[in-house]
Amino acid sequence: MLSNGFQHTLDYAKQMDKEDTLRCYREEFYLKPNSIYMDGNSLGLLSKRAERTLLESLEDWKEHGIDGWTQGNHPWFFMAEKLGAKIAQLVGASPEEVIVTGSTTVNLHQLVATFYKPEGMRTKILADELTFPTDIYALQSQLRTHGYDPETDLIRVKSRDGRFLEEDDIIEAMTDDIAIIVLPTVLYRSGQILDMKRLTDEAHKRGIVIGFDGCHSIGAIPHSFSEWGVDFAYWCNYKHLNGGPGGVGGLYVNRKHFGTMPGLAGWFGSKKDKQFDMEHILTPAESAGAYQIGTPHVLSCAPLIGSLEMFIEAGIEKIREKSLKINQYLIDLIEHELKDMGFFIGTPREDVRRGGHVSLEHKEAARICKALKENGVIPDFRAPNIIRLAPVALYTSYAEIWEVVQILKKIMTEKQYEKFKNEREVVA
Ligand SMILES: *Cc1c(COP(=O)(O)O)cnc(C)c1O
Repeated sequence: MLSNGFQHTLDYAKQMDKEDTLRCYREEFYLKPNSIYMDGNSLGLLSKRAERTLLESLEDWKEHGIDGWTQGNHPWFFMAEKLGAKIAQLVGASPEEVIVTGSTTVNLHQLVATFYKPEGMRTKILADELTFPTDIYALQSQLRTHGYDPETDLIRVKSRDGRFLEEDDIIEAMTDDIAIIVLPTVLYRSGQILDMKRLTDEAHKRGIVIGFDGCHSIGAIPHSFSEWGVDFAYWCNYKHLNGGPGGVGGLYVNRKHFGTMPGLAGWFGSKKDKQFDMEHILTPAESAGAYQIGTPHVLSCAPLIGSLEMFIEAGIEKIREKSLKINQYLIDLIEHELKDMGFFIGTPREDVRRGGHVSLEHKEAARICKALKENGVIPDFRAPNIIRLAPVALYTSYAEIWEVVQILKKIMTEKQYEKFKNEREVVA
């Protein structure tokens, strides 16, 4: 018997699969035989529905040419709004508060260009030292564009242990020289969920605008952005949402900000019935759509239509329920089977603080990942010492988790990793 009532046998894993109410979705994905995909938090897999809606969109182009904007299976002119309205269910927003557009980094630039309004002594941007590098690069360049010095005007909250952030430390850093706060919803390495409600409350008490990078939470956990009063958020749709490599991103803007002129304006931010008046004065949409810039990337929106259907159908609460359970199962199996092998679980243990992946630390992590790949398991590696394993609710089975842990155990007991160099690949 493992902790949390799990058992350590393969039969038990198979029984869990039988009882899994989401198991029907597994068949909808292209899973490779003899391979276990544990990297859905970096790039989600292709599903048959995503493939279908992409092909339908190509068909629309083939059939309708320019008229595909308003006709066909998925008229392009309304695609971003329609997708936004669906994703709104996953982030706890009303349909007009979400739009599918750009990419994570571009959307961050847009939102900071829109909501960073340095004034008087309130000039600084608050972020954290564990966040994803692109966020930091974007914030540094926004500061430079505004004539500030990233060295002194970008404040990065420190982590006490290199893994987690303490909300108390973040709140302490919300001083009266901070103009805007940008934080992750879920930390990309450790998988820690930040207490977004509390942080938003505290920021607002101090008159500071706050936004979140939702790349690692979208499609994995429910959110209540509107209820919490979050000012803005942005994310990519190619991780847990399986929208396809390089696919379109998304953003959320709280309705209280509708009417705020976009920092980076473009004609697709127009009110839809005004756009083709072709005036030189922008009439922005009264929705998150105002923060679109140019023509939507239709063919990278298309797979998301099919992929999202499954999330809406299954419901994010149910997806979260399985995600928590299967991630816990992985943690408990690791603790049971890989004792004294130098592993450390660098993911929070409490459900409310844990996202959709497990961060397994080991000093030989880079080469253990290579050995996992040789054994048909696809993990990902984050330098210097993290193996990220993401059991994904819609397509990972409990039996696969059992097998991954057995494979890891074999790699360690046979020291299979020793034949590889402990260095990362170009793309890790
Ligand atoms: C994946 C990821 C990104 C990627 O940004 P792109 O603009 O899509 O390349 C940004 N932030 C976080 C936290 C991520 O996990």
